[in-house]
Amino acid sequence: MLRRLIKRRWLVVLLGAATTLVVVLGMVWRSAIKRNRSVPDEPFRIAGNLYYVGATGVTAFLLTGPEGHVLIDGGYLETAPLIIGSIAKLGFDIADVRMLLNTHAHSDHAGGLRALQEASGAELWVSEGDADVMAAGRNGDDPALGPLRFIGVLGFGTFPAPRIDHRFKNGATIRLGPLELTAHVTAGHTRGCTSWSFPVRDGDRELLAVDICSLTLFPFVSLVEPEAYPGIRSDFERSFSTLRSLPADIFLASHADMFSMQRKLGERADAKNPADPFIDRAGYLGFIGRAEARFREVLAKQQ
Ligand SMILES: [Zn+2]
Repeated sequence: MLRRLIKRRWLVVLLGAATTLVVVLGMVWRSAIKRNRSVPDEPFRIAGNLYYVGATGVTAFLLTGPEGHVLIDGGYLETAPLIIGSIAKLGFDIADVRMLLNTHAHSDHAGGLRALQEASGAELWVSEGDADVMAAGRNGDDPALGPLRFIGVLGFGTFPAPRIDHRFKNGATIRLGPLELTAHVTAGHTRGCTSWSFPVRDGDRELLAVDICSLTLFPFVSLVEPEAYPGIRSDFERSFSTLRSLPADIFLASHADMFSMQRKLGERADAKNPADPFIDRAGYLGFIGRAEARFREVLAKQQ
């Protein structure tokens, strides 16, 4: 009797400790996410008519033109007001943003799109592969998430669905006055993950900027039969070769740490031209190479 009571007390202590651990880990995780989405980075000119208007973690890029501006990515829902503030701080008007583009339909890059669309009246362009997830405002609808999609089903990773004005295919060119952006569907991270390439005029030189969507393969995603979605393995293979084939000068990505933004910002002080640290073909190729090596490692294990 006494022994059973002691056992039960231990069970209570153990359960209490486990619950506390889960709560503390949850708080740490939430504060990390919050830092990522709600700390505005001081907006700055990257090169020519290309500006950074994103947060510390999730990026947003503004490409300005005489007939209106293009904004790539909307961050989290909470990032949208920071992006609008950053655009104003640079002396531009959110109402002059005529086009909204997106790298992929995940809540950390698409969450703010509806608010940005309402503030600007801009038209949103979404790849065919990501359009259904975007229209539903639910990460969990994308099989590229693998088992993680069930977290999405539980309500995590939902976001206010924006209005989709145009659906495009791989290779589409989107124009606004003299601005011209090319959509490269580099799928795998999502079914319609889109990397954007566009020329930037910086003084008397023309630079090609490439904003890489993401090459991250989620844990436990099957690359072999039955694939997470039919074609995910060949999608990743094509994404590596597509990105490698682009003559990128300026290396950008959907998360700031992917292209070492903070380090490059620090290097500007000693640079001849403040755009120079962002001209990073080696860093661009290195990023693709590391992502491919991880992909090959996972694939080899699964095979
Ligand atoms: Zn993502």
